[in-house]
Amino acid sequence: MTPRPTSPVPHAIARLSHAAHWAARAHKDQQRKGIDAEPYVNHLLEVAELVAHADEPGPIEVVIAALLHDTVEDVGVTEAQLVTEFGPRVAELVMYVTDDKTLSKDRRKAAQIEHAPGLPHDAKLIKLADKTSNLRALVRTPPVGWTEARLLDYVDWAAAVVEACGPVDPGLERVFWEAHAIAARAYGRGRAAEADEALP
Ligand code: ZN
Repeated sequence: MTPRPTSPVPHAIARLSHAAHWAARAHKDQQRKGIDAEPYVNHLLEVAELVAHADEPGPIEVVIAALLHDTVEDVGVTEAQLVTEFGPRVAELVMYVTDDKTLSKDRRKAAQIEHAPGLPHDAKLIKLADKTSNLRALVRTPPVGWTEARLLDYVDWAAAVVEACGPVDPGLERVFWEAHAIAARAYGRGRAAEADEALP
């Protein structure tokens, strides 16, 4: 009998699928804010995919951390749990992109801009991918009850965070600014800019 050819699953893929499954379970009761109320895991998978498609995505830990980036902030996972389950590098990256929930919402938003320049490169990759996914969602399925002004405020703030990161990854930056242009056009900034340009 000829032996069955084996193609072992690479270690990195095993770790990645574990993180995807773990993140999906951690966020199982959470949905996105948009009118479609998409399962939260859709956002995590999109952020991981964006990071993996960066010009230089870095080590597998960055994609794993992308899958887990909202676990501490949103569903009460602890840094210690992440260290045990995924190792110190992944846990450290997740903590870099986790807001301090003891601060007010406005203070947290300001803190993201203040802290962005000092983030390590790999954390900036996740930050850019997160903002890209959020801007896409804002257009595809806007949050219930948000006024156009509030939507536009988010679009401007996302751009301020990404600008504060400085140069990160040309491919990922390009994808972010494409999403930003579409969102800005959808919520009035583009229309206002075009009107300004049309003035004599
Ligand atoms: Zn996120």
